[in-house]
Amino acid sequence: MITMVKITVTRMEKAPMGSRLEKYLEELPDTIKRDGYDGFLSFFTTLFMDCLDFLIQENTDISYIPKITLKLVHTHEQFKKEEQREIEHSESKENAKNQARAFVVGNTLRAQIYVDLATYDHIITKYGMPSFLLDLASTYFHELLHTMFPQKYEQAIYELQHHLVETFLGIELSKETKSLKSSDYYIKKEKGREG
Ligand SMILES: [Zn+2]
Repeated sequence: MITMVKITVTRMEKAPMGSRLEKYLEELPDTIKRDGYDGFLSFFTTLFMDCLDFLIQENTDISYIPKITLKLVHTHEQFKKEEQREIEHSESKENAKNQARAFVVGNTLRAQIYVDLATYDHIITKYGMPSFLLDLASTYFHELLHTMFPQKYEQAIYELQHHLVETFLGIELSKETKSLKSSDYYIKKEKGREG
């Protein structure tokens, strides 16, 4: 199993009052100030665990929770290398049209989620903290949903992901964002050809 997330970034300027997004936006600068880059990295794990807990709490029909590990990849080059290696072993019928920033490998027992840190550095610099948080949470939900519901197709995953990220962060996504079709992002992989 291998899946990827689009590189298009949904812009978010500020957090609604009292939302979880607002809470993260208050905490994150303090963590970075205190622990530097290590603090920034540890936030990736914190948010991941929060998303995982939330997803389990929201989906009582999950019968078994796989052992999931998070692998933060530091450079684009390394990420591309890992991605290529997994693509070669993958039976996936879909490939991302654009550059991916995360993917998951494994099965319903064990899975590993790879995240391209360089892309997230870029998202923070170019789009700011609220967009970064929204994007990272969306990415986590997307890959977690693939892990827990391997039978679901891309479009169903997107719909669940949008619902989860809205309720989790306490925000409302635009109709535009929610109506994007997975076919905008994925191409069907032809047999015997790498995408
Ligand atoms: Zn996907």
